[in-house]
Amino acid sequence: MIGHLASSLELIHPGTLRVLGRAEATLLGLSRFYTGLPCKAGHFAERFASNGQCTRCNAAKARSREHLRGLRDPSHRMFRNTLRRTGMALRGRASPAKALGCNHPELRDYIAARFRPGMTWEKYRQWEVDHVTPLSAARTLGELVELCHHKNLQPLWRRENLVKGGAKSS
Ligand SMILES: [Zn+2]
Repeated sequence: MIGHLASSLELIHPGTLRVLGRAEATLLGLSRFYTGLPCKAGHFAERFASNGQCTRCNAAKARSREHLRGLRDPSHRMFRNTLRRTGMALRGRASPAKALGCNHPELRDYIAARFRPGMTWEKYRQWEVDHVTPLSAARTLGELVELCHHKNLQPLWRRENLVKGGAKSS
């Protein structure tokens, strides 16, 4: 039993991976095993004892599922659109991510905290992200970078924003 314990510890320690069959791993009660052979994708990685799947392939699949979920999440679309607009305003003269000064969860929470009555993430596009002080007010690059900061952002109903922008209200 002590011998088995020692081999399981060896497996956990990186760099001391022992070549082990799935059956042996299951016998030892290990969740993972290492065959010493590459998976179909060419990873030299441990496999899950439960299903024999490569742990690296599995992690990549999980990441891509996460990525797809992110693409469908309106708050994530809002973040990407905001970052893209910031990049368009700065035109390579400064880092849009730095100027915005926050990541996706931070911007999501910041904007959600400023929702007007009736605003939800599902209604994104009926409302949009607006600069409280318009970027056009900036006279220098420094001022522009400052106005790009997320503290200058708010959610605004689209119609309100059109009115604010000087377009004819219908
Ligand atoms: Zn793999």
